[in-house]
Amino acid sequence: MSTELAIRGMICGGRPGIRKRIENALLIGIPTAGTLYALTAGYRLGITITTVVVFVVFYLWAGLGLSLGLHRYFTHRSFQCGRGMVIWLALGACFTWQGTILRWVADHRRHHRYHDHRGDVHSPVYTARGRRLTRLRGFLHAHFAWMFDDTTTDPAVYAPDLLRNRLILHFVTFYPLYASLSLVLPTAVGYVVGGATEGLRCLLWAGFVRITLIHHGTWAINSVCHSFGRQDFASGDQSRNVWFLSLLLFGEGLHNNHHAAPYSACLDFLPGQSDWGGWILRRFDRLGLVADLKTAALSELTPSPDKSQAGCNVGVE
Ligand SMILES: [Zn+2]
Ligand SMILES: [Zn+2]
Repeated sequence: MSTELAIRGMICGGRPGIRKRIENALLIGIPTAGTLYALTAGYRLGITITTVVVFVVFYLWAGLGLSLGLHRYFTHRSFQCGRGMVIWLALGACFTWQGTILRWVADHRRHHRYHDHRGDVHSPVYTARGRRLTRLRGFLHAHFAWMFDDTTTDPAVYAPDLLRNRLILHFVTFYPLYASLSLVLPTAVGYVVGGATEGLRCLLWAGFVRITLIHHGTWAINSVCHSFGRQDFASGDQSRNVWFLSLLLFGEGLHNNHHAAPYSACLDFLPGQSDWGGWILRRFDRLGLVADLKTAALSELTPSPDKSQAGCNVGVE
């Protein structure tokens, strides 16, 4: 049996692979082009208080859609919530321009299934097909190159719960519409508040630049947090904790903590660790907006046998 066949739920080549590459070219190419324009020409328009406020609002909405929505709720079911909260998180998830909820969840569950072994979606150690990577190539593969290989994840294997959920399927079917709102809404708010020039500023900074920042932040979890940083807990992979990515991305930089207890809604297991996604979840819990937060106890976790291995991405078999 070939290695490819032995990897559960991984589809090699064919139309899904072509479709994945076209989708990712659009999802990455459009905001990247907009960001380059903002940095080389758009900055001449200046930035106003309105631009900053609209940027922050949409960064928070999309960032929480990523961290609390795509990751902790849709993928790991770390807490429960009502329909209104699910819709708010699903909209934020679409605003990140990282593909449909179905695709993201299936890929991420396969990442946990094969974490830094053959079959992982985006490991710096191996390609999905099992080819061993050098350190630099591995870093680039984990950061973004994996989005242009021809392997895909079968949602029937990794996300059958979402395939039965009509609300989620609505957001999958109308994904282009909701992703477009990620640009249309900031532009509209800017236009209403300050006219056409403010609308353009908000499109550039609260639209394109904001999406590009969240793109690279998310990709850094896959590349930086599987290559550099502290490994506080044994997780059977190369996952690391990187504090500054936690600040940028709602606590997601505590990625070793997450791999050690993927079901946990809150990730700040040790004193001094900052998980403000978890901090927000605890407040939501008190307000009755979410419920049944699953949280790992420190006693359930095994300390990493060798914390001095920070920055080493070899030795996983
Ligand atoms: Zn990971
Ligand atoms: Zn995860």
